[in-house]
Amino acid sequence: MCRHLAYLGPPRSLAELLTQPPHGLLAQSWRPRLQRHGTVNADGFGIGWYLPEPAPCPTRPARYRRAVPIWTDANVPELARAIHSRAVLAAVRSATPGCGHEEAAAAPYALGRWLFSHNGAVGDWRQLPADAGMPLEPDELLGVEAHCDSALLWLLISRRLSAGEPPADALAAVVRATAAVRPDARLTLLLTDGRTIAAVRHGDSLWHRAAPGEVLVASEPTDGDDGWREVPDGSLLLAAPGAARILPLGDPAGAGREEGTS
Ligand code: GLN
Repeated sequence: MCRHLAYLGPPRSLAELLTQPPHGLLAQSWRPRLQRHGTVNADGFGIGWYLPEPAPCPTRPARYRRAVPIWTDANVPELARAIHSRAVLAAVRSATPGCGHEEAAAAPYALGRWLFSHNGAVGDWRQLPADAGMPLEPDELLGVEAHCDSALLWLLISRRLSAGEPPADALAAVVRATAAVRPDARLTLLLTDGRTIAAVRHGDSLWHRAAPGEVLVASEPTDGDDGWREVPDGSLLLAAPGAARILPLGDPAGAGREEGTS
């Protein structure tokens, strides 16, 4: 359904990353090539980017999110030309039936320095915390940002991050617990703090391209570069500029496989 992308590397304009590539996120909003669920991604979009340093709050990213199709927002070309960043997470959305259509349901979700996006769907998500043994307190539920499976997943993951859990462990724990009680759930996730990216492919497509000093992780290749590699289903990807490491999801502490250059 949705399509999303994360980038770390030298400062690039949002246009270079999102709107100019022949199969970039803008093109994927109306003509995705590898999307198996849904057709277009017209239910909103979001762009999160980290500010150049020095900045008043360099580790806390900025966001621009709308509930309209990205191609209808006349501000996007101007913003994309003007904004440059070393770290970006962006998504275009095809809403899952039963989820809200509000702006707050458009990824990336944020907490402090973190940005998060979910591509997929969880059946009967309202019962997930109880079924998976991850109960929520009333104040946590009241604070959930949107009426959406992705917002719930982000709540479950972000409270682990806030408790100091490493990002790969937090993603893997929530994916494993969810998959155990929702075997049909699709859970392809992107998470970044602006310095590293942790991602899970569990269901919908995920690719990465590591080149010296930079890395892109995306639902599908954004151009014809032959450096794109598919992330195998059931894997965890840990990426930093110039490097990507793939681990089996069932074994986040395992040895993994290095790809790319440093
Ligand atoms: N279920 C999520 C939502 O409704 C993600 C949808 C998707 O991947 N298309 O936003």
